Amino acid sequence: MLSTTNGAPDYPFCSTPEAGGWLEVAPGVLWIRLALPFQLDHVNVWALDGGDSGWTLVDCGLGDPRSLSVWEGLLRDALARRSVQRVVVTHFHPDHIGAAGWLVERTGAVFAASLTEWLLARALSAGSDAAADAAAERFYRRSGMAEEAIASMLGRKGAYNRGVPSVPPTLTRLRAGDRLTVGRHEWIVIGGSGHTAEPVSLYRPADGNGETGLLISGDQILPRISPNISVWPAEPDADPLADYLASLDGWSALPADTLVLPSHGRPFRGLHERARALADHHAERLEEIETLCATPRTAAAVTRALFPRPLDAQQTLFALGEAIAHLNHLIHRGRMLRMVADEGAGRSGADLYGLAGTAGTLMTR
Ligand SMILES: [Zn+2]
Repeated sequence: MLSTTNGAPDYPFCSTPEAGGWLEVAPGVLWIRLALPFQLDHVNVWALDGGDSGWTLVDCGLGDPRSLSVWEGLLRDALARRSVQRVVVTHFHPDHIGAAGWLVERTGAVFAASLTEWLLARALSAGSDAAADAAAERFYRRSGMAEEAIASMLGRKGAYNRGVPSVPPTLTRLRAGDRLTVGRHEWIVIGGSGHTAEPVSLYRPADGNGETGLLISGDQILPRISPNISVWPAEPDADPLADYLASLDGWSALPADTLVLPSHGRPFRGLHERARALADHHAERLEEIETLCATPRTAAAVTRALFPRPLDAQQTLFALGEAIAHLNHLIHRGRMLRMVADEGAGRSGADLYGLAGTAGTLMTR
């Protein structure tokens, strides 16, 4: 999540909750904001009032002491009138699932997510092994990153567990098209892919009482920044950008006046325009990369050209992953080749990316 993109959505709320505070954005729908200790300094989570059945919480924030004490306050105060029936998470990232284990344990709620996102969270929190570490090291070396950057990226081991101290041990599986009853409303599970493998969004159609449709979009669509679309060491040839662009197309099936409740930034209207702006952003990126790679370059060189400002280790991971996602997409579309320079050329095994048809004497794999 590094790029600020154009396209000016309409923000119907002039105020934003303080970290730890809340605001009712539609009857029975609370917008809660939790602080994050990153450059992206907040995440929005949502509490849906299900009447006698209890609250449905959507996303949880990190599982750090600060977020847990905010949740304690919310359970005592804003949410005190009902029990918590279920905890839904949109995807496995720590700012969404981090406090889920604690919340489920504390409230007795059921935990709901897609199977893939839950399994990924369970797998990541179990930690990596030597083979996975070696694969990650190979992946970063092949990208052409400097040794120092590789060491600091590999040194982030354990970061997932710091944000996600526990993952709920049991799952209520959500599939695209499922309906969740919350009070008198039904929320439809919308599938997608791109930011992660199988995130879920929740859509509540217009109710005929003047309320437009509501979409809890997770990170799949955000008002101001472009969601991170990354290739990771575990699946080096993946093309998540193709999935993401297909998901962006899918939003045209929802009404244009849908109020979008995103995980970062403010609720907005202008879903269709925002989806188009994000698609345009990626199209521009792809063009820029094709121009850059008229002279074959490493993924690290492409990353530096796309993200010229200084980046910390976490941002570098996202930036490199995002650059490789665009490169892989061009490879999948037959526009680009990944080439292995001969070791004698002094590139110590880093892959080069060049335009298809201009590979010359370089060998492809
Ligand atoms: Zn995310």
